[in-house]
Amino acid sequence: MPKPATPKEITYSGIPASPGIAVGPIHVIARGFSAPEIFEISTEDIDAECERFDDAVAVTKKQLVELQQRLDTLSGNSDSEIFEAHVMLLEDKNLLEKVSAAIGSRLQNAEYAFYAVMQNFLEAMRRVPDPYLRERTADIEDVCQRVLRNFWVDLDNDHETPKETHILLAYDFSPSDTASMNRRHMLGFATEQGSVNSHTAILARSFGIPAVVGLGASVIQVTTLTPAVIDGYAGKLILNPTPETLAGYTALTEEKEKQRSELDAKRGEATNTLDGRKITLSANIEFIEELNEVTRSGAKGVGLYRTEFLLLNGSDMPDEAEQTEAYTKVVSVVAPNLVIVRTLDAGGDKLPVEPLTEPEPNPFLGWRGIRVSLSRPAMFRDQLRAILRASHHGKIAVMFPLVSSLSELLQAREALKRCMDELDTEGVPFDHKLPVGVMIEVPSAAICADLLAPHVDFFSIGTNDLIQYTVAVDRVNPHVATLYRPTHPAVIRLIGKTVEAGSEHGIWTGVCGEMAGDVRLTPLLIGLGIEELSVSPKIAPKVGQVIRSLDFAQCKDTANEALLMKGSSAIMDLTLAVARERYPDLLD
Ligand code: PEP
Ligand code: MG
Repeated sequence: MPKPATPKEITYSGIPASPGIAVGPIHVIARGFSAPEIFEISTEDIDAECERFDDAVAVTKKQLVELQQRLDTLSGNSDSEIFEAHVMLLEDKNLLEKVSAAIGSRLQNAEYAFYAVMQNFLEAMRRVPDPYLRERTADIEDVCQRVLRNFWVDLDNDHETPKETHILLAYDFSPSDTASMNRRHMLGFATEQGSVNSHTAILARSFGIPAVVGLGASVIQVTTLTPAVIDGYAGKLILNPTPETLAGYTALTEEKEKQRSELDAKRGEATNTLDGRKITLSANIEFIEELNEVTRSGAKGVGLYRTEFLLLNGSDMPDEAEQTEAYTKVVSVVAPNLVIVRTLDAGGDKLPVEPLTEPEPNPFLGWRGIRVSLSRPAMFRDQLRAILRASHHGKIAVMFPLVSSLSELLQAREALKRCMDELDTEGVPFDHKLPVGVMIEVPSAAICADLLAPHVDFFSIGTNDLIQYTVAVDRVNPHVATLYRPTHPAVIRLIGKTVEAGSEHGIWTGVCGEMAGDVRLTPLLIGLGIEELSVSPKIAPKVGQVIRSLDFAQCKDTANEALLMKGSSAIMDLTLAVARERYPDLLD
């Protein structure tokens, strides 16, 4: 017998989205709602097929309840109702009977009968005039796909994701997919679409999941169980790795582990440059469960709490009491350090705060950030009151996202003042000196930073958005990813201008976008006068060591030179040269 040929090693290159190495079998997640296999059954098989249908429904219901519980833990809520409607659909007697009847009358397998009934139902839903009901078709499709997948899962092994460790491979994941992933057995993920500054990639870094995105179109043809490696440092997916490749990655993992424990040992040290410039190192968080990581990272507080992740999977924004509880928990754990709570930044690539009547043609230019809060005063009030209430239990600041004009900032401040007056009248204690900041993430805000500065206590630059809006490059679109350049002269100038306006008015400027954690750029940012860097807690120990290796005077010279340069590559080379000189081992 000839020996079966050893499968060839194939390497796909994509965008490194989250550092780390993962080695394991692939599990492909298919997209779309395709028709299942169809086959005829005999009349004796009808009961058995109906039973298979009942089992698939039972497994799905169990999964939905578990998913809801997981989300409750993640978001810190105790009674989210995200999947209740999904479960109700699976308890709809009329629908269940229709499927059983279809199995009997069509004499077709259960999954096909279910598919046919649901297609009819969905088509009817798509035609209803009520936009809210139309929106729900996506939820129903989601439940249908789950049920169809569960025809192949037995009751004792009822997870749609495999029980064995695996690497997920998919067309794309939304931020909420990523947030609700079952991470127990998942070693890493790779997607065809995506970009490094999408919220999906940001979440992967927060969770410490190695990830590669933007791999291109052909990857989805990979078969489940193919052995693979994800190289989250270089942005590679390697199929059928040879023993040599695997040995190389084992060595790399050991080296990174060693580096990590060396950095961990220094995380308590002050983050001053060698010549004494103090830089505040803080952490970005999305979920309460990340607080442990913040504590162990050495970060001095939370520089960005992305509260829109309280809205996971289309749930409503929690009410004032629930939000107060969540924010109080965060401030209590982080005390005596500061927590900067960003008010809701729904929209863009994250979920909208409510179903939209029409899909937005350009969501990033649409109903997002402070625009949503100002147009939903009751919801904004709940959030502001909750932040104020929590301020009694620790050190908290509030900041507003996507502000594009002074008028928006003043409206937000007025809303805050109204909440303060109300709480005073009610006798509820809060911090009357609660610092107020504004995110600088729209070019108009950076250009008019001098107008905004007198009305706030700090600026926090959201470079992820500032870059996309300055150079007109969608931050989640892999087709234009090479044009998304943090060192574009326009971006550097806007950062410089913001810092200048801030210091003229005696306020500090930080960076909470992903640039803050890109250690190639630390010399440039510090040189531009940035006083706070807020990064994913996972990389805070590294950024801390980078700060301690730098000389502020040299950084200032670098920034001054950069401000005179004409192109992004030249600016990148300049800052990278300082990084290579000061901390070559910390550059991935
Ligand atoms: C940013 O835009 O840089 C930022 C920190 O906000 P987000 O990534 O949540 O839009
Ligand atoms: Mg932003």
